[in-house]
Amino acid sequence: MKGNMKHTFKLEKRDKLLLYFEQAAKSYGISKFDHHFCKIKGNDEVAQYLESAGLHKWSKAHIDGCRYNVMTTNIAESINSVLWFARMLPVVHLIDEIINLLVKWFSKSRDFALKCTSTLCPDFGEKKLRRRLECASRMNVVKLNHVEYNVVDGDMDCHVHLTNNTCSRRNFQLEQLPCKHVDVVCRFLKLYVYSMASRYYTRNTWLNAYSYTINPVQPQELWVIPEDVTSTKSEKDDQKKMTVL
Ligand SMILES: [Zn+2]
Repeated sequence: MKGNMKHTFKLEKRDKLLLYFEQAAKSYGISKFDHHFCKIKGNDEVAQYLESAGLHKWSKAHIDGCRYNVMTTNIAESINSVLWFARMLPVVHLIDEIINLLVKWFSKSRDFALKCTSTLCPDFGEKKLRRRLECASRMNVVKLNHVEYNVVDGDMDCHVHLTNNTCSRRNFQLEQLPCKHVDVVCRFLKLYVYSMASRYYTRNTWLNAYSYTINPVQPQELWVIPEDVTSTKSEKDDQKKMTVL
């Protein structure tokens, strides 16, 4: 989105509008988003362009579901950029390239997951959670009732609700990974903080996702074609011949 915006309005790399866009996109709270987006509204055209693209597609504050810590608006574009070199090939070769790519991805990711010793994937949760745990040691907790807690974070208070799995700053519910306020509440209650993270961040889910082996397609001479498939093919060939006649 940032690239499209830069290209459409011919913005310089250091244009402030790009900085405001990044700040708005990364804001979890609506009020923080509004604060940054207001600065973009100084340029009507850019603001309208971003609004018409759909705020829910690029802003964390407006997403209509859980985005975890991944922000992509179009998975097809991501795949396109990886396959740009193969797009000119005939379709059979393109499919071969896609299979080769998947073979490499699955094998590499499976190796990483097998070597991983942490509870969460290192780059998708573990490092982030550990950094948050360090910050959490400097905060205080006030118990409101058995499920609600107030966390004093600098000069701002955050409200954590353990049953609803929410924090008033919204990081927790949007990422499904404990924020520093949830961390400090867990520490206060002697709860295992990792149990509050979505299973999608865990090493086990990572391992399961890549547990299957992608096999390359063997040369056609080695294919073992079931009889029912062969007979269907012959019937279709006969029909084609009849149509030509
Ligand atoms: Zn929080």
